[in-house]
Amino acid sequence: MDLREQKQELRRIGCALLPNGYSIIPIGSDKRPFARLLPLLWNEDGSPVMGRSVNEKTGEVYEYQRHGWNEFQTRRATLDELYRWLKAGAQLALVCGEISGGLLVIDFDRFNNGSEDLFEQWADACEARGFPVRSLPRQQTGSGGWQVAVRCDQPGENTKLAWVLDTNETLGRKIAIETRGAGGYAVIAPSRHPNGNFYRMDNGEFYETPRWPQVDVNAILNIARSMSQVEDKPVIQHATRSVWSGCANQDSVIDRYNAQTDVREVLRRFGYADAFSNRMHRPGRGTHSVPSVHIGDDNRSFHHSNNDELRDGFWHTPFSVRCKFEFGDDARAAVRAIAAELGMVVQPEFRNDVAFCPYHPTHELQVSQKSGFYCPNRTNGEFCKFRWEGVGYEAPDRSVASRLPRRMAFSSRPVDKIVRSSAARSVDEIVRSAAARPFNEIVRAKSRAGV
Ligand SMILES: [Zn+2]
Repeated sequence: MDLREQKQELRRIGCALLPNGYSIIPIGSDKRPFARLLPLLWNEDGSPVMGRSVNEKTGEVYEYQRHGWNEFQTRRATLDELYRWLKAGAQLALVCGEISGGLLVIDFDRFNNGSEDLFEQWADACEARGFPVRSLPRQQTGSGGWQVAVRCDQPGENTKLAWVLDTNETLGRKIAIETRGAGGYAVIAPSRHPNGNFYRMDNGEFYETPRWPQVDVNAILNIARSMSQVEDKPVIQHATRSVWSGCANQDSVIDRYNAQTDVREVLRRFGYADAFSNRMHRPGRGTHSVPSVHIGDDNRSFHHSNNDELRDGFWHTPFSVRCKFEFGDDARAAVRAIAAELGMVVQPEFRNDVAFCPYHPTHELQVSQKSGFYCPNRTNGEFCKFRWEGVGYEAPDRSVASRLPRRMAFSSRPVDKIVRSSAARSVDEIVRSAAARPFNEIVRAKSRAGV
């Protein structure tokens, strides 16, 4: 498809969608809303909604007024606007939710090079139960996934339905099926993905999306949920959990903080505002917005808005909110500060009975005459502030062994001579018998021998 044909086709689709009750927005070649063609955003008090950007070359931070597509969640564009967008080189996306007649798009990501096709599995399962999902309008996205559209009374908000296991991901899982509902949009064929591929209709047309009874839609969504390889409800994400998962006592700081802090109170601190019942408004919300933060019964928040920094598909706790906004996702720094606030003493991280700094897990604690144990890490000339009394703890004595590896590595003298000149007899024996083994084994043998 050349670009002229693409533009003609987008025009045909757009002209069919608008009068049939679907809202559309202009999209740039990056798949994101085409900001320049969209209205400016204003707060409820009439002040502009500002965004911040960093000049990557100079590091300079500048502010600008944001444009947004919110308006097209409550009104449909005119044909004039559509022509203007296409003339400016925009592509198109469908706005989901109420403004498009309760439009719901179910999105199947492609993964493992498409070898596992969740769409086919889901479609088989649905049709076996009498739901003809293969008859629904369907497109293949530029990245090779599938999107299926249906209309219903309550399309809900964007929802994650199923994950697959993926060890390359921080959380060990990857989203496989999700919905686009209220507050969501879907780029449509024949727009072009940043990777150069066109979106392509595979069945039917979006402007002829049928309306299904809500119970049927719920049933096909539940079939998608049942395909998840990982637990299906959102889990708590503690920022960079994997970084410090070996440090159990940090969990106790986080658990205690979460137990005694109200998540609403923390959110208010960062510009969130109370709304009705179990809802809150995000900071800098647009004039048309509905409260997009959901407060769960268990002191956690879930963030639905695209413009919310906490929208990541996970429940947030008082700790994870502060970790994000106050400590730039540095969980170690957050734990340290919050432990101090709570008057808790942070314990070192133990591995093989050796104490390491909880904030610098590669640094073994050193003992000083004056102040007990300290962490030898220095950042910009400043020592790590971690201190530990270490009552009852005996650090392994490395005074002999710490000299061994370098001399063994760089000296041409035979190993036994080096050892005799520097160590007690028992170490001598251990090292000789272990001369071919890696250094850490020698150290371990030595600390077991108590030397
Ligand atoms: Zn440290």
